[in-house]
Amino acid sequence: MTQIAKKAKAPNRNNAKRNLSILISILVFMIAQTGCASGQSGTTADADTVKIAYLPITHALPVLEEAKQLQEQSGLQVELVKYGSWPELMDALNTNRVDGASVLIELAMKSKEEGIGIKAVALGHHDGNVLITSQDIAAAEDLRGKTIAIPHRQSSHYILLNEALNKGGLTIEDVHVTELAPTEMPASLMSGQIDGYCVAEPFGAMGVSIGAGKVLYTSDELWEDSFCCALVLTDQFLENRPEDAKTVTEYYKTAGDSLSPESEMEIAQQYLGQSEEVLKESLQWISYHDLDITREDYETLTEKVREYGLSDNPPSYEDFVKNDF
Ligand code: ZN
Repeated sequence: MTQIAKKAKAPNRNNAKRNLSILISILVFMIAQTGCASGQSGTTADADTVKIAYLPITHALPVLEEAKQLQEQSGLQVELVKYGSWPELMDALNTNRVDGASVLIELAMKSKEEGIGIKAVALGHHDGNVLITSQDIAAAEDLRGKTIAIPHRQSSHYILLNEALNKGGLTIEDVHVTELAPTEMPASLMSGQIDGYCVAEPFGAMGVSIGAGKVLYTSDELWEDSFCCALVLTDQFLENRPEDAKTVTEYYKTAGDSLSPESEMEIAQQYLGQSEEVLKESLQWISYHDLDITREDYETLTEKVREYGLSDNPPSYEDFVKNDF
């Protein structure tokens, strides 16, 4: 990873009033995210409660919808535990402070590889990512020498960037890759600190909405039906409460299947604190039906994980994916 070099851009490209308004919007959003995980007790859930960690992104909508449906239809309650960053969420998952999480599947695979007792029981979504770039980048070839942000190397965003570079006959060595917090990406592109980014939604749509950049590729143009997030449960929860684990998984998949454009918008507005315009742009790129993790698609993922250097030894389907409830 290389440091970002600041580049000069014409200061009067956008009027000051508009920039101030955008800055305030982003700051308000970032302040809201900062407090996400504060006040979490870290205690284990009681017998009727399942603690599921999530980040406020569109990729987590099935778990948010499930929480609503479970509360209405069964005696089991999902306690949603909101975090502001992947490292914080992974720390809670890896130390059994939550029973499960909606999380980047590559991050969970890395934890599994390192001996953490977790299993993936369903996908988070299908497709749903975009590569956003500055307006002057017209094609993949133009990415040479540019600075591109991703949230974490252990992510489908890093894989998608590699796939985009392939299209232009480039490799990851031809760009500067930097890890940034998702909330910082739209403003960093706007200011010219970076030339593009790929990250969980709705931050791509936010970049488009504020005029910071454009969609160079949607994820399905780079990797058809790509993996990204998964619902992961801890072995402790799976072993101690197998019936609840089964209920959580079944309701989760049903919740994903039940989502419609209207209910997606409703639940996203309830939890994500984003404008309807941003969400509408973002939700057109994602789907939540059929969230089973198939062996064939998981093996495609592990091939890409090896090919692009995320891991030499990703966990096998048998070790990591549980679909035998
Ligand atoms: Zn995702």
